[in-house]
Amino acid sequence: MAVNGRPVIDSPAADTPSAAAPFYRAVGDEVEVFRAAARRGLPVLLKGPTGCGKTRFVEAMAHELGKELVTVAGHEDMTSADLVGRFLLRGGETIWVDGPLTRAVRDGAICYLDEIVEARQDTTVVIHPLADHRRELPLDRLGTTLPAAPGFQLVISYNPGYQSVLKNIKESTRQRFVAIELDFPPADIETEIVAHEAGIDGETAGTLVTLGRAIRSLDGSPLREVSSTRMLILAGGLVAEGLSLRSAVRAAVVRVLSDDPDVVRALGELADAVL
Ligand code: ADP
Repeated sequence: MAVNGRPVIDSPAADTPSAAAPFYRAVGDEVEVFRAAARRGLPVLLKGPTGCGKTRFVEAMAHELGKELVTVAGHEDMTSADLVGRFLLRGGETIWVDGPLTRAVRDGAICYLDEIVEARQDTTVVIHPLADHRRELPLDRLGTTLPAAPGFQLVISYNPGYQSVLKNIKESTRQRFVAIELDFPPADIETEIVAHEAGIDGETAGTLVTLGRAIRSLDGSPLREVSSTRMLILAGGLVAEGLSLRSAVRAAVVRVLSDDPDVVRALGELADAVL
């Protein structure tokens, strides 16, 4: 299926809910770039602000490519053992338990490391030999090296807004990645997405998108995050549950974006002007 010449990955009739393709509306050439990278087994860097569709995109691509998706949410306390695995004591016996990265490498899955650059350097170091031509994972604790099964693909996402450099990824490794940049979609596409995901009419979705875009374009904004597509969908979902647009926007957007009473008041006024 294609809209304006761009592919739309949508759910075909599926036997079970879990077999349904995740709905993903392409914005640029990201689907074609990902497909080509997947054919070559190249790792992908996915850049974009929080809530703009990175996770949904990877889910849709994994489904289209018929691959298992292993997702790991990065955080600063993450250790390499959280990725690779560790010995655990089970019923008096010490057994090795694969971490999610090892499992993906063995199974030829897509391993999606979400916000992995939050993690410490000694954690991210394990991905270097996987991302380059070696395509292997050193399992130091087991004294072996695991070659990646065919089909294995590494996908790393980060938000360039607050991680200006991939500080923990070596430049030589970084150069082996294919980069895809996602951003909040243009208004017409975002309206379509919000309407679809929240189950609301196009006009209401369009109003939410107008507000979202107004907040995003605020000059000298004190906000750390802006109104994401995800937040607009949440607001739309509350409207679908019978809340007024005004209440929904206050609950899912305005109060979520800031704790500062002055900022909350100003955003509320902006919302009232748009709604
Ligand atoms: P991120 O991983 O960038 O933080 P998500 O992928 O979780 O963001 O996106 C948030 C939500 O926005 C998704 O669950 C989905 O409902 C919706 N969404 C965003 N972009 C798209 C898109 N291009 N097509 C379909 N849904 C989208």
